[in-house]
Amino acid sequence: MENCIFCKIVKGEIPSNKIYEDENVLVFLDIAPVNLGHSLIVPKKHFANIYETPEETLAEMMKAAKKISKALKSELGADGINVTMNNDPAAGQIIFHSHIHVIPRLSGDGFPLWHGRRPYQEGEMNEVEKKIIGGL
Ligand code: AMP
Ligand code: ZN
Repeated sequence: MENCIFCKIVKGEIPSNKIYEDENVLVFLDIAPVNLGHSLIVPKKHFANIYETPEETLAEMMKAAKKISKALKSELGADGINVTMNNDPAAGQIIFHSHIHVIPRLSGDGFPLWHGRRPYQEGEMNEVEKKIIGGL
């Protein structure tokens, strides 16, 4: 995919701090880490987001996420790990090449997570449940 920054990283056309690579995925350090060691798991082939990424590829990405999570805990002393994927601009996606963030967390680091949560209103939860199941 032309002009995709992560495709260019995969091809070695722009530099990155690679930490893991296999046949299907590449892992490198995020240039603007939430905490040091924040890593990005990307498929070597271009897919824009979770909807377009084949299930087998997503499974490969998650395998790598597990490997990296364990290394971030053992080698960087992370107290916890967030594994997240942003899909579409509304969810914060800015690079449209599918990727999983693996973010080391330190106790009390203050990184905000899911502001504005609220309980369901009367009947709302069942309605939402039915809608989602209808689309599976
Ligand atoms: P997202 O908001 O999920 O699309 O995240 C894209 C991530 O890519 C951000 O956290 C950026 O800091 C990171 N990023 C952008 N350009 C580069 C780059 N050249 N090397 C490493 N990470 C990058
Ligand atoms: Zn790409």
